[in-house]
Amino acid sequence: MADDVLASIEGGATIVHLDVMDGHFVPNITIGPPIVKWLRPVTNAVFDVHLMIENADRFVPDFAEAGANWISVHQEACVHLNRTLELIRHHGCKPGVVINPATPVETLSEVLDMVNLVLIMSVNPGFGGQKFIPGAVHKIAKLARIRRERGLNFRIEVDGGVSLDTVAEVVQAGAELLVAGSAVFDGPDITANARKLLKAAQAAVPEKKQPEIIRA
Ligand code: ZN
Repeated sequence: MADDVLASIEGGATIVHLDVMDGHFVPNITIGPPIVKWLRPVTNAVFDVHLMIENADRFVPDFAEAGANWISVHQEACVHLNRTLELIRHHGCKPGVVINPATPVETLSEVLDMVNLVLIMSVNPGFGGQKFIPGAVHKIAKLARIRRERGLNFRIEVDGGVSLDTVAEVVQAGAELLVAGSAVFDGPDITANARKLLKAAQAAVPEKKQPEIIRA
């Protein structure tokens, strides 16, 4: 895992996105705080921890302690979303909020001024290698418009099915942080995959709006 992270960074990745699944909120289980902690000495890159879990409040302190820089939680999984975002900030991390493909952007209107990033899921979370859901593009564009109208400065991230086929569309809609799993880590040359994806993203937008590629 450390080798793969370093290979992706060599290819241009700037942020390490860690998908945490609990087998309850999503039908899969991945990693917890110990893996984040073990990975922390490998790089100074920002650790962007995406919690796909219930009871996020219970685990925020552990992930912060393990070395997370940003922690994102799902709107659908947090009954007291405002409190959870405050808690993340209280533990020294930048808070983000995530919505699933079926959740409208409008559900975030009361928290947009509290977050560092908004993550639009372009697949239903739970597994890697899924096909991009095209409706996500409209949500990214809508979010970018709301941000402009309200003068806010959160960043727009997209996660799920980001590949050479879909990357131009998402960055043109306004995504600035691109989470890539299979597109970077499948196949023998992670560095080359990352480089190719980043180049495609950069080619799709004018220079001042350059996106960053990040790993899953
Ligand atoms: Zn993720």
